[in-house]
Amino acid sequence: MSENKNETADRSEGPASGASQARRRAGSQAIDEVQRVFESLRNAVLDQRLPPGLQLKEQALADAFGVNRAVVRQVLSRLEVFRLVSHEPNRGVFVAHPSAAEGRDLFTARRFIEAAIVELAVERLRDADIERLRALVKREQQAYADGDLRKALRLSIDFHTKLADAVGNTVLAAFLDEIVTRTPLVVLAHRKASQPTCALSDHAQILDAIAARDVERAKALMIEHVGHLQGRLALDPGAKRSDSNIARLLGLDAVDNPI
Ligand SMILES: [Zn+2]
Repeated sequence: MSENKNETADRSEGPASGASQARRRAGSQAIDEVQRVFESLRNAVLDQRLPPGLQLKEQALADAFGVNRAVVRQVLSRLEVFRLVSHEPNRGVFVAHPSAAEGRDLFTARRFIEAAIVELAVERLRDADIERLRALVKREQQAYADGDLRKALRLSIDFHTKLADAVGNTVLAAFLDEIVTRTPLVVLAHRKASQPTCALSDHAQILDAIAARDVERAKALMIEHVGHLQGRLALDPGAKRSDSNIARLLGLDAVDNPI
């Protein structure tokens, strides 16, 4: 909101002065910083680096990213819109801790949306699209074989979002993106002892069914696949954790301060 105020003030000054240009530059730099910090935190959620219930302190984030607290506040507001963090009055801002009921709702929504995406994929995907997705699945399998779980996890998520993108329905893709981004929080909040991930051969089999233009099999495999992940979660509530070292969790402790 502060950028809007600055822009209005600049326009009222008539021809751009050096000072107003400098303010505009500072404004667009702040927007870039908001975007950069937002993406970093969103990626940290996707990589399961931010545990549900973790307190996010403004100053610690500002120090970790080398930005001011106003930037951090804007980022936290945006993350709240996507329900990745929750603001608790008089307590602070916490990484969202989805309830068991929310988790069940999320997986139900995923089954419907991903079944619809697969149905459209059978209709619309060209051979080149399928080959691109096969290459992604190969990289995912290689990452598992190399023991690089974080990379494998990201590629697993990419499989679902890239399939949605390839189908070309922007509304379905946006729905899925929002839901998939919240999935790691549900997994972390409600997982059993082992790390639940997409089953290794499922993605390749779903692609085979799409390539064979077998809509019923492709949908059944996708619904089973999402159900398999849900089945590995214990949907009982967990406890909140305290902020230990936000820079370390974000992998920023060794990064140069950009300012
Ligand atoms: Zn999957």
